Amino acid sequence: MARPMKRLFIALSLVLPAGWLLLAALFPQIDRTVQVPLLHFYIVTFFTFAAAVVTFFTAVALGHSSAPRHQLLATAFAVMGVLFFIHGVTTPNALIFAANPGIRWAAWLTLFLGGVVFALAGLDSPERPLPLVRRGLIHWTLAVFCGGFILIVAFRSQWLGAIDAQAAPWHQQAVFGLTLLIWLFAAVRLWRTWRQTALPVDGVMALIAAWFAIGSISMHAFAAWKVSWWLYHGQLLLGVITAVYALSQTYEQLRQFRLTTYYAALGLVATGGLALLASHFVSQFVEQTLLRPLGAELPATAEPLIAPAAMTEMIVRARLSGLLITGLALGALFLALLVVVRRADRLITARRNELAEAYTNLQAAEALRDDLTGMVVHDLRTPLTSMRLSLDLLAKVMDIPEQAQFRQRLMENAQGSVEQMLALINQMLDLAKLEVGQLKLARQPVALNVLLQEKAQLYAPQAEADAKQIRVEAGPNVPLVTADADLISRVVDNLISNALKYTSSGGQIHLCAEMNGTAVLIQVADDGEGIVPEAAARIFDKFYQVTDADGQPLRRGTGLGLSFCKLVVEAHNGRIWVDSQPGRGSTFSFTLPTET
Ligand code: ADP
Repeated sequence: MARPMKRLFIALSLVLPAGWLLLAALFPQIDRTVQVPLLHFYIVTFFTFAAAVVTFFTAVALGHSSAPRHQLLATAFAVMGVLFFIHGVTTPNALIFAANPGIRWAAWLTLFLGGVVFALAGLDSPERPLPLVRRGLIHWTLAVFCGGFILIVAFRSQWLGAIDAQAAPWHQQAVFGLTLLIWLFAAVRLWRTWRQTALPVDGVMALIAAWFAIGSISMHAFAAWKVSWWLYHGQLLLGVITAVYALSQTYEQLRQFRLTTYYAALGLVATGGLALLASHFVSQFVEQTLLRPLGAELPATAEPLIAPAAMTEMIVRARLSGLLITGLALGALFLALLVVVRRADRLITARRNELAEAYTNLQAAEALRDDLTGMVVHDLRTPLTSMRLSLDLLAKVMDIPEQAQFRQRLMENAQGSVEQMLALINQMLDLAKLEVGQLKLARQPVALNVLLQEKAQLYAPQAEADAKQIRVEAGPNVPLVTADADLISRVVDNLISNALKYTSSGGQIHLCAEMNGTAVLIQVADDGEGIVPEAAARIFDKFYQVTDADGQPLRRGTGLGLSFCKLVVEAHNGRIWVDSQPGRGSTFSFTLPTET
């Protein structure tokens, strides 16, 4: 609604009812009597029932993420719905025959207690929120009070009658005065809160409080069945609809879609409405098809076969049975559907969680891929830069005969850089092929003891430069395995270079091969920094690198080495794992079956 329209609506919604009440008070003759008890019963029962249910479920959906005063707004309507329902049920000759003083008390209490809860909500403000404990206390007190009141109306309505006999009309006037004051207080407090927060719900609450202040005049100051008296019924309906609308608008983004809650709210409203409609048809059927003809056949002068009071009683009984039967049938249907909906709801929730998880994983994978791209680009740039430097220098000293030795060194440098780049690219390509099972194993007999000896010699200069030692323990009785010699050699390369990378100066690296059942067990052990258990479980994952407290990898690497090892070993039907203790070193082990 546009702003000026909204203002006009607000002004009219206050001025028209107040103006009408004033006119009706000054000129009582214009205030017509509209005595339709059954309509009253249907309006009150259905709409307040619907309002209570909808408000209750709105409150459930709102949860603790909303402001306390907004939760209390839902509470106020739940209480008013319950009390007004009793007001509807006690309409004479609708469901019960006898006049029950509960009808008036229920109406008074509807506005009085609703006002109290609104006033409490008015005490909540953004800078001083109402504590949670108090809200719990308010809810419990209201529940106990309403429960007690229902019991009294049902079983001891004469108590209310006795109070009426003693205290009328002063007690009603006292309730009237108090109710009016409470609503006015709530309206002012909530209006002040709204000025501060500019939240639509706060504004709507202030407006509702003002409407209901007028409503309490309509209820208490005018006789039943007058148009002025009907006014507050309309205001209650308008209030609850506006409140639910404002709440759902404000908290739309907070609510998670819960099928069960929505079904329960809608289903209960529909069940209640249909049960009322069906019972109405039953009572009409009894009245028009069964009872009326019975009376019509008699001559006008004859005594009626059924006294009018008994006839009313029969109609009421018919309505009650109709309500009971349809209520039970529809209630059972509602419950059966609730089971189905709950199940569907669970499935939806499970799927939604799965999707959310898949999305999170996807995002993590994407972040990882970006990181890797960055790393790979960096890893390629370093040797490329070094190669360009070598080539530039080479161009400068090309024709100087006495620089032959320098030229040789530059050539070797450039070749080394090319090798480094090729190794990285090959590793990535091999990994990709291994993953999709496309890499063909060039199987041949491999002597693992010999392989380890060769590797120890190969890495000895690098180890010695850092004062590290490589020991081999692999006797001649280690059998040959049929494996891809190149791939297995690269697995061992990866493990030894990791061992060198993650041990400090003076470290010991131990290579070992031995027979273990039907497989050969190869181990590369170091006494370096080790790996924390949570990382040990993941180091064979692609791109995984152990990071420090700042999220940086401990050493420069790609996180591809161990995933390559794992894929190669598994392609040979072997197994690879690590045993490690932080600060004490790591032992990487893998097996290669001797029979393929
Ligand atoms: P990277 O290229 O980073 O070395 P790897 O797949 O070879 O990738 O290793 C994954 C991670 O496992 C490394 O980041 C490192 O933290 C840890 N790691 C591997 N070998 C050792 C070892 N011998 N000692 C301690 N940590 C190790």
